[in-house]
Amino acid sequence: MPIQHVFSFYKLYKLSKKYSDDYYTEVGGDILYKAGFRKHYINYASFNREILDLPTPAFSLGFNIIYPFGAVFVNEEFKKLKKNWLKYIIAHETAHIILNHYPLNILLSEGIASLPPNIRVLIELYRFTSASLNLYKEITSPLEGITAEKELDADEWAVKVIGMKKPAIEFLTWLKEKGLKISHYSPYTGLPALSIDERIMRIKKIRLR
Ligand SMILES: [Zn+2]
Repeated sequence: MPIQHVFSFYKLYKLSKKYSDDYYTEVGGDILYKAGFRKHYINYASFNREILDLPTPAFSLGFNIIYPFGAVFVNEEFKKLKKNWLKYIIAHETAHIILNHYPLNILLSEGIASLPPNIRVLIELYRFTSASLNLYKEITSPLEGITAEKELDADEWAVKVIGMKKPAIEFLTWLKEKGLKISHYSPYTGLPALSIDERIMRIKKIRLR
């Protein structure tokens, strides 16, 4: 792992221990137990703007090698939400760790950074044209696709482990009603990768046993 990633990982991991949250820890522990993980090293922490000034309400980092290891951060404001919504949010963030999305992100960003300059120019050009022509819907590069797939996989894992679709659908619908349309942007191209509607649609198709 390149040194700057090790450094930010270590800093955030330490922070997650400092701001460890009893309630989030209990919910996360239950989810992991249900998913078959009898032992884990994931810290569940709550944060606010003073602790971490980030535009995202929840995020996670870590990996699943032998045991799940990492940190899940959920904004303290989320405690006001319905208990089942919170369960889904925590399960979704846990899923990113279980499914090893974080090391995949690092590999990808390192991979893109190491591309020959002419290819990077192409990515920039693509970004510029599709942004200026507003072609998000028509043109998507594999880079947006990767972001979307990771999120949809995390949703599926979460919904299956908690055994309910309703909290996910209700929470995402609530976000939509608050005016949020785009769920995720590609960190590589900055273009919209996944809409809230697409997430709801895919969750509805999941088959629960
Ligand atoms: Zn996610």
